[in-house]
Amino acid sequence: MTGRSRETQLARGGLPALDRTTIHPYDDATPGPVFYQRTAHAVGLEAERVLGELEGGHALLFPSGSAATTALVLALMKPGATRAVADGGYYGTYTLMQNELSRWGLNVEAFDQTGEPPNADLVWLEPCSNPMLTFPDLDAAIALAHASGAVVVVDNTVLSPVLLRPLEYGADFVLHSATKILAGHHDALLGVVTCARPEDHARLHAFRTATGIVAAPDPAWLMLRGLKTLALRVARQSATALELATRLTTHPAVRRVRYPGLRDPVAERYVDAFGLLLSFDVAGADEAARVETALTLIENATSLGGVASTLEARARWEGDRVPPGLLRLSVGLEDVQDLWADLAQALDPLTKG
Ligand code: PLP
Repeated sequence: MTGRSRETQLARGGLPALDRTTIHPYDDATPGPVFYQRTAHAVGLEAERVLGELEGGHALLFPSGSAATTALVLALMKPGATRAVADGGYYGTYTLMQNELSRWGLNVEAFDQTGEPPNADLVWLEPCSNPMLTFPDLDAAIALAHASGAVVVVDNTVLSPVLLRPLEYGADFVLHSATKILAGHHDALLGVVTCARPEDHARLHAFRTATGIVAAPDPAWLMLRGLKTLALRVARQSATALELATRLTTHPAVRRVRYPGLRDPVAERYVDAFGLLLSFDVAGADEAARVETALTLIENATSLGGVASTLEARARWEGDRVPPGLLRLSVGLEDVQDLWADLAQALDPLTKG
């Protein structure tokens, strides 16, 4: 980026035309850059240019975050390889690695990302992990992983490049579920991988074209529009999340709050604000269900990163991987007083037995 602020960079310029054409005629019998949509399309190329600038690398779109994970693993790993995945991160990443990709002779193990990564061929980190909100010491973890010959992927979905640019700490790849905060409005399913090295970008691009794991123009266009307000959304949502996390620590029905902004010394070394995601525990599954059904403003829904706040008990998906009373809250753009009033009216009855 030039010396201009991130807000300015993101806000300036128009959006490309939403060209859905799958073919463009050859020029003098020579295929151009967007001759066939499985190889590339104009909206995707513009989205990749913007995302590459934001992360400081070479970006490629995929139809979802999970598609991006699948492509990365299958394009880079060989049978017999071991993938070490941050425990407490997005459960779908681990279950995809375990239930689907392990059948191709790939091993997977979970590890505590606040400590040293184990020996592996691929190390997968997730700062502000979803939903346990742990934060790895990126410098140390990446150096150790590289020393043992691993490539490092950082899933930066929760923080976004506004708060953290993992390639600057030596990560080889950054992955996003762009479905979340990059697109930002719960209306586009999309993934992105940004590669530190052009040769990895070329390899992944070839894999993507061959397999057809390709994002369509429409969600890419929606993400480009969403990116215009990314910096503003991240700042506001992070400030509201910190305020709510702080207030939740004082509520008698809340047993524990997880948010790196509540004095996580490692996170404080890497980021100035801590993002829109937090989780907190009430006594158990019944109490969590009571909170879910009592909310009137915050949507009882899955996913994160939208302009509307969402909350859900994660045990319904993750089972005993998380405490039964764990509620995950993705903070949106609503007024902080309105959000607190909604949380308080849902939590207060739990203190009355
Ligand atoms: N990574 C993280 C941190 C996520 O939260 C998710 C989805 O919740 C994914 C990856 C997968 O993304 P998608 O739902 O776009 O496939």
